[in-house]
Amino acid sequence: MSVRRAIIHQLREEARRLLSERRVDCIIGYETGPRGRVRPAFLYEPAEADRLVWGPECVHNLTTYLHNKKKPRKRGEEPPRIGIVVKPCDSRTLNVLFAERQIERGRVYVIGIACEGVMGRDGQPAAKCRRCTDRVPLVYDLLLGEPPAVEPAPDDWSDLERVAAMAPAERLTFWLREFDRCIRCYACRQVCPGCYCPTCAFERDDGLWVDMGIEIPQKFVFHLGRAFHLAGRCVECDECERVCPMGLPLSLLNRCLVREIEALYGHRAGRAEALTPLLFELGPEGSPI
Ligand code: SF4
Ligand code: SF4
Ligand code: SF4
Repeated sequence: MSVRRAIIHQLREEARRLLSERRVDCIIGYETGPRGRVRPAFLYEPAEADRLVWGPECVHNLTTYLHNKKKPRKRGEEPPRIGIVVKPCDSRTLNVLFAERQIERGRVYVIGIACEGVMGRDGQPAAKCRRCTDRVPLVYDLLLGEPPAVEPAPDDWSDLERVAAMAPAERLTFWLREFDRCIRCYACRQVCPGCYCPTCAFERDDGLWVDMGIEIPQKFVFHLGRAFHLAGRCVECDECERVCPMGLPLSLLNRCLVREIEALYGHRAGRAEALTPLLFELGPEGSPI
């Protein structure tokens, strides 16, 4: 049996067990949709376990769906317990969400999978996988698969070189041209596990700082605002860039801030259960003072 088939078999068995024993109320994993493409799956019954799949098409960061499971389904009930499939990169999001008290650790059963990488839209290894140093999840209750034999290359930030080489005025022109292509569809925000405000500051019809227009100034504020809201919290999953219908290089913007935060504070989001140092003064235990 191939490694992939073995993982799928174990995954389905575990999902069946967790749902049968009522250890969790829902499993969030991956399935193959009717058009043959892999998509997120939400399983509630043991008989559904055989829908689960695993492979290089499992690109989505499923942790973003935990935000839909934070509240009880009925008044007076406990919030649901969730089993979730995570890749190593996605597991960093869990550390962020636990630190931000968005979800209790005890309500999540984490099925981590050792990862050989996923494919980008072009069928080639995704950009994030080429710089990935985490091939085993940082958070898990059950680990499936063996760490691959690849030697992860250290992150050399080479993807940022093209903007770093620009003079400030040239860089501003570059970003304004990119932001001008944005249609403010908010797909980048919706897919982001770090964007979970009930009412987004950039979509209020009485917004103090920015209105709903789609001229460059509004788009400029939206993108810089979102990037700063994610500063020290972005786990570099590249999901925002993947879903953008206009092909904006959002990872370039996010990773510019990731590099700055790491240089200033030695903080890389999700490597440990810790809040962003940009928003909080942290005590010796890593919690806000
Ligand atoms: S970034 Fe790393 S953990 Fe994430 S899909 Fe790529 S290889 Fe797997
Ligand atoms: S997904 Fe792309 S087009 Fe849509 S709001 Fe985000 S950057 Fe703009
Ligand atoms: S890469 Fe994009 S989607 Fe992922 S955490 Fe960062 S801002 Fe959010």
